[in-house]
Amino acid sequence: LHSPLKVFEALESEVRSYCRSFPTVFAKASGYQLWDRDGREYVDFFAGAGALNYGHNNQRIKAKLIDYLMEDGITHSLDMATEAKEKLLERFHEVILKPRNLHYKVMFPGPTGTNSVESALKLARKVTGRDTIMSFTNAFHGMTIGSLSITGNESKRKGAGIPLTNSISMPFDGYFGSEADTVSYIERFLEDNGSGISLPAAIILETVQGEGGINVASFEWLRNMEELCRRWNILLIVDDVQVGCGRTGPFFSFEPAGIYPDIVCLSKSIGGYGIPLAMTLIKPEYDLWEPGEHNGTFRGHNLGFVAATEALSYWEDDQFSREILEKGEKVRLFLEMLAQQYPEMAGEVRGRGLIQGIEIGVDGLAEKICAAAFERGLIMETSGPNSEVVKIMPPLTIDEQGLEKGLTVLEESFERCKQ
Ligand code: PMP
Repeated sequence: LHSPLKVFEALESEVRSYCRSFPTVFAKASGYQLWDRDGREYVDFFAGAGALNYGHNNQRIKAKLIDYLMEDGITHSLDMATEAKEKLLERFHEVILKPRNLHYKVMFPGPTGTNSVESALKLARKVTGRDTIMSFTNAFHGMTIGSLSITGNESKRKGAGIPLTNSISMPFDGYFGSEADTVSYIERFLEDNGSGISLPAAIILETVQGEGGINVASFEWLRNMEELCRRWNILLIVDDVQVGCGRTGPFFSFEPAGIYPDIVCLSKSIGGYGIPLAMTLIKPEYDLWEPGEHNGTFRGHNLGFVAATEALSYWEDDQFSREILEKGEKVRLFLEMLAQQYPEMAGEVRGRGLIQGIEIGVDGLAEKICAAAFERGLIMETSGPNSEVVKIMPPLTIDEQGLEKGLTVLEESFERCKQ
């Protein structure tokens, strides 16, 4: 009845719909599955780019939202104190911060990951009185002018038209191969009066670069980077927007490294149910904004608070985290098997927990594999500056059967695209 392309024309402009043009219209979703309006079923190995760690329409969270709505719980409240906000802050402290011995003040910077990143950059400038932010090759931090200025991807940066300022890009861990010590390299630049580099207010990093090609920083590199920040009095910001909330196993991706960032950015799955919500965690000594210096109409939404509070019940013990690591290991072994089976197509397998990637050495082939997978009912996307990595990122709640279904389609898609 409807041609999919016609529908897209009606819904969005050609330009805006360029990126996720899966040629169908989706109608409903549950757990790791989606259905389109013709009733076709899909396994979701994309999870809303990390916004659906607890799956689509998570039943436990849905029940809490329905109760809240039925009781006429307040939805929008600007920055007023509400019971829903209070409950979330209490639970976040009890379940997440206290057991990890982390002391942060929590701020709701707005609905998106970019909002959290912007608040972190702005605060780092205010705290240090410096204006430059150091970030990394292949980093992705958002699309607004500040967050884009620290995003490494040239095709994204072009969206700003003119060069972006107040940022320095440095090589991420592994950029020159696993032997190169990029922390010493960066320190040399800071020490050298001739390098032309001024002392940054902050260093911002992702522990696993989700958009930039699933590049994984070693725990040692993260510790060395923290030490560098301490030596130079630079704030360390960890952008855990994509790989926080359990994506790599632990709640915070930086936990196993034992580091203690000054500021942490959270969004995507912090809203529990795909509800737009972000949090910026700030060490108490940097809580320096005067009232009103960083405000906004949607600085946290009560439905997001309710969903986020229930989602935290997954973190009351370490069972969920263990399951994520076990499932991640399964995916990894499967990808390594694929890499051996298809050496002419596949290269390195990398990732941590349930964000895993397999590099495809032939130009444009990763995208073809994803398209072939879609035809067979599997939703995946590519990652990396040249879309050269097939990215596997299912909801963390996916069961054995769902994983198997998806991985089987992945293998079929490799076979179909065999060169
Ligand atoms: N930081 C990281 C690490 C991200 O992956 C993203 C989104 N892909 C963002 C920031 C921006 O988040 P949002 O799209 O919600 O603004």
